Amino acid sequence: MGRRDRRRGRTPKQPRRRVPRDWERPGAILKGPPITLTCECGVKRELAYGERWQCESCGRNWDTTRIPAEQYQRIRKLSLRYRVTPVIFGAIITAIGIAFTFTNNVVGVFFLLPFALSSWFVFLRPLHRKRYRAAIQGLPRWELRAD
Ligand SMILES: [Zn+2]
Repeated sequence: MGRRDRRRGRTPKQPRRRVPRDWERPGAILKGPPITLTCECGVKRELAYGERWQCESCGRNWDTTRIPAEQYQRIRKLSLRYRVTPVIFGAIITAIGIAFTFTNNVVGVFFLLPFALSSWFVFLRPLHRKRYRAAIQGLPRWELRAD
C-alpha cells in the first residue's frame, strides 16, 4: 500500500481474478456450452449437460439431464456452427498463403496477412457476432425442479 492510499484510507486493491470464458472450459466446444443453473436459494453454478449438482447452501439436488436432450443438442450444434466459421476463414487464408508460396509469390503473403486480419476484425467478426447474438436470442430457458 502506497502512502497516498494510506492517507485516503483505501483498502489495497485486490488483484482481479480473470473469469474464464465459457468456451475456455475443457471440452466446452465439443460437449456443448455450460448450463447456468440458479438454485432456489439464489446460488448460481455452471454445469455441463448431464452433470448433477447438490447446492452447498441449501442441499437441493439438481439434475441437468432433465433438460430434453434433443433441445440441448440444438444449442450445442448452433454454438459449434458459429465456432467453425472463424476456423474455416483461417483455413482459407492459410490455403491462399500456401498457394502464393508455391507459385513463388512470397511477397503476396506479406500483403495477404494484413489484408486478411483487418478484413476479419473490421468487417467479418462484428457481423459474425451480431448474427450469433441474434441466433442465441431465440434459445429456450428451462425451469428445472430440485429432486
Ligand atoms: Zn440452494
